[in-house]
Amino acid sequence: MKSAPFVVHQPKSLNEAVMLFSQYGEEAKIIAGGQTLVPMLAMRIATPSILIDVNEVKELSDIVEKDDCIEVGAVVSQARLEDYLINHHAHTLLAEMIPWIAHRPIRNRGTVGGSIAHADPSAELVLALSALNGWVILANHRQQRKVIAQDFFLGALQTDRQMDEVLVKVVFPKLMINTQIGFTEYGYRHGDFAVVSVAMIKNEHDWIFAYGGIDDIPLVFKERLTSKEEALRFVTHLANTVNVREDPTASSGLRRHLMQSQSELLIKQLDIVKE
Ligand SMILES: Cc1cc2nc3c(=O)[nH]c(=O)nc-3n(C[C@H](O)[C@H](O)[C@H](O)COP(=O)(O)OP(=O)(O)OC[C@H]3O[C@@H](n4cnc5c(N)ncnc54)[C@H](O)[C@@H]3O)c2cc1C
Repeated sequence: MKSAPFVVHQPKSLNEAVMLFSQYGEEAKIIAGGQTLVPMLAMRIATPSILIDVNEVKELSDIVEKDDCIEVGAVVSQARLEDYLINHHAHTLLAEMIPWIAHRPIRNRGTVGGSIAHADPSAELVLALSALNGWVILANHRQQRKVIAQDFFLGALQTDRQMDEVLVKVVFPKLMINTQIGFTEYGYRHGDFAVVSVAMIKNEHDWIFAYGGIDDIPLVFKERLTSKEEALRFVTHLANTVNVREDPTASSGLRRHLMQSQSELLIKQLDIVKE
């Protein structure tokens, strides 16, 4: 199929971008890496008459590392963030998770903001932002606002972003020295979206267990547990009791099994990886 006709605008500043959004409203859609939107246009699942290509907007293109967080401009490609984290030995958990996103050619085009704005329940960056209790900055022609991950992701492909708002940056808090972390996921082929993914963060006796692919938004549990045995018992309890979605890609039984087995694997290996 061919997309419906549209006009492309290429703003150079955030101000220009938000003014276009306020001018065209629901007719307009932002395009970043286009990895998701272009197929949607081609299949006419999305039929905007205006595309706002934000790739040239300077305010959306920086990676800024601070003492306690990494601020990533919305149009930073996933590959650029991946390289930055490797070259700067920064943020081990994010660095572990990003290579699981699709394949490198897709990460070359796919942006950090595009992934967060799209809010796929299995997306690694959506899980990372939720597990780390990070936040996003949104802007329209009147104001900028900060929304924490827990309030931003509302459902599968649904967020708190309003129709006229541009996602400006995504902020990933850093972990404290000696925090232990782990990440793994199960998918049918390398590069596929995960059926289930698990991120774990442990600081002394405080554990965070975060799961992608189980529900319409990442599930994050914080627990104070004094031993690995207690942690193993906790994940068994979780896998048996949480609501788990069922769809043509996997039964709820398979997802429960993966939730438990992957969690057990991480708990046993957690000492190996340190922030
Ligand atoms: C074959 C394939 C496999 C993939 N596998 C994975 C995977 O395993 N894990 C994973 O996490 N992802 C995966 N992806 C998704 C991909 O990595 C991108 O994250 C995703 O396509 C969105 O990023 P994008 O920059 O391409 O956004 P686009 O396609 O340009 O946009 C996506 C949506 O976000 C909106 N949007 C984009 N930027 C902004 C902004 N700044 N402000 C407001 N709204 C905005 C757009 O309007 C659109 O609705 C896969 C994609 C493909 C094609």
